Amino acid sequence: MLKYRIADISEAANGIWIFAMEPLGGKLVHRPGQFAMMHLLDEKGESLDKRPYSIASAPDSPQLEFCIKMVGGRFTSGLALLKKGAVVGIEGPMGVIPHEGGKWAFVCGGTGIAPVMSLVRDIAQKNRKGSFLVFYSARDRKSLLYHDELLRLAKRNPCLRVVFTLTREEPAGWAGRCGRIGDALLHEFVAAPEDYDWFICGPMAMATALRECVIGLGADQKRVYLEGWG
Ligand SMILES: Cc1cc2nc3c(=O)[nH]c(=O)nc-3n(C[C@H](O)[C@H](O)[C@H](O)COP(=O)(O)OP(=O)(O)OC[C@H]3O[C@@H](n4cnc5c(N)ncnc54)[C@H](O)[C@@H]3O)c2cc1C
Repeated sequence: MLKYRIADISEAANGIWIFAMEPLGGKLVHRPGQFAMMHLLDEKGESLDKRPYSIASAPDSPQLEFCIKMVGGRFTSGLALLKKGAVVGIEGPMGVIPHEGGKWAFVCGGTGIAPVMSLVRDIAQKNRKGSFLVFYSARDRKSLLYHDELLRLAKRNPCLRVVFTLTREEPAGWAGRCGRIGDALLHEFVAAPEDYDWFICGPMAMATALRECVIGLGADQKRVYLEGWG
């Protein structure tokens, strides 16, 4: 288990906190889209409890970034007590998302944007060529994490396109979509779903429903990767 110090904590949206962590010694080597086991530690540095969290930062980043919904559960209640400077344990990396293909559709909701940020930041940093589509839904505008950064990345990289959709709000002047991600929206942007690899991430109920939806649209089920929680 590696030790990381919390370098920064910010509340990005209602109840969703972004943690930036710097390594104390060894740095976790990971691939984009992977997750790590985070440990709360006692005063001797022994693990008290652990949970998996997707890594939102790109592999080249000097810090690890996590985007965590504070649900008041066993782990998040303990995490909420930690201040900047506190040390946590990081174990991993875990999970594999083969992302070398040239056509990817990332479909995510809520904190499901975390692994997608790692993938998209990596694609942008490496200036990868292909077709990369991000479909990202949140309940309202203030719950959309990384909105400005995603727009910036898409502006710089013509291979990357981001479609935001809000499920419970239609703010004045909103340039994105409204409503849940479903057949019509996906079909509008992905003419040939079978040509794409799909990564779906978010609340489990949403992720499993979307998996069925993209397979129904013609995606190859061997190329549909799913990660869900909550
Ligand atoms: C591979 C993987 C990656 C994950 N990555 C992330 C991530 O990037 N960000 C993140 O926030 N979580 C992520 N999770 C979920 C995380 O591991 C914990 O399950 C979550 O933080 C809740 O832990 P807890 O002990 O505080 O809550 P628990 O004590 O386990 O649950 C307390 C209550 O909260 C509810 N609950 C649990 N999770 C959620 C949720 N997300 N939304 C609403 N209610 C919930 C439970 O149903 C329960 O009623 C990931 C899980 C997996 C398996």
